[in-house]
Amino acid sequence: MAILLVADHDNAALSEATAKALTAARQIGGDVDILIAGNAAGAAADEAAKLAGVRSVLLVEAEALEQRLAEPAAALIVALAADYDTIVAPATSTGKNVLPRVAALLDVMQISEVIEVVASDTFKRPIYAGNAIEVVQSAEAKKVLTVRTAGFAAAEAASAAAPIKPVEAAGADAGLSRFIENILSVSERPELSSARIIVSGGRALCSEEKFQAVLNPVADKLGAAVGASRAAVDAGFAPNDVQVGQTGKVVAPDLYVACGISGAIQHLAGMKDSKVIVAINTDEEAPIFQVADYGLVGDLFDVLPELESQL
Ligand code: FAD
Repeated sequence: MAILLVADHDNAALSEATAKALTAARQIGGDVDILIAGNAAGAAADEAAKLAGVRSVLLVEAEALEQRLAEPAAALIVALAADYDTIVAPATSTGKNVLPRVAALLDVMQISEVIEVVASDTFKRPIYAGNAIEVVQSAEAKKVLTVRTAGFAAAEAASAAAPIKPVEAAGADAGLSRFIENILSVSERPELSSARIIVSGGRALCSEEKFQAVLNPVADKLGAAVGASRAAVDAGFAPNDVQVGQTGKVVAPDLYVACGISGAIQHLAGMKDSKVIVAINTDEEAPIFQVADYGLVGDLFDVLPELESQL
């Protein structure tokens, strides 16, 4: 069995999501090749080659692939697909953009957001906002799946680097889309999806000013990323890109501190796999306490400043 793992990278570096998706790919069983589709992406390929359990790294460089647009990337993967039984990508923004196109072009069903590999053709994935886990057995000859990386540890470093094979960018520029600009939010805090600690705030924070004055200092003391519920984002207390949940980011840090968040299922869908969950809420009946490892019934406007001073 041969598996093609589509890497998540920015040409200069590999994202940790790739190393985690590699663990899933290895559990499927077979030879794993990592595809680096980019431009001047040698550094990302070097990193991929140093991961354990990689047969080879396919390095495809072309201008059309520089920004990882879905259309040229999908065309490239389809051109390579004949040599593979399974195509895997981490369920990142890029993976979720590219792989459905690959599945459609190959006329197969995609299996999305895999959280566990049961067998080479059988996978577990969450449905109904994480309230049920579906076991999917695929009869497709060619399987296309995205992996929810929160469920897998990053692959370790290899003792010897795998070979890097330059591959022609066949059919990679269909001219269907073009890159205009990338507007990135700049923050000194860790990135939410990969942060080890997240301090998250909900509607109870009352305003953007209070969110920043009360929650951010605790996050800074802990070296944590800041997250928010959708209610807090919709009310303008926190920016859109820090929303955690079903329609936000799915995170699984070592520590998740939920402050003034009720614990609606849509929020839990994005954070309940966190290793340790701490909840601070005035309502002892709040559903967040059902998933919390540590619960503190109290007013966050008292608790957070005290926590900050203790830290
Ligand atoms: P609330 O539910 O209003 O809870 C506020 C909490 O703060 C309460 O538990 C209250 O007891 C507590 N509190 C009040 N004052 C204090 C205080 N001083 N100190 C401590 N605690 C206090 N939500 C998400 O978060 N992410 C999503 O991705 C998401 N996607 C959605 C998708 C769909 C299709 C739908 C329908 C909804 C989605 N939601 C999502 C919204 C979700 O259903 C909830 O409305 C939202 O999560 C509630 O946010 P909250 O917990 O901040 O607010």
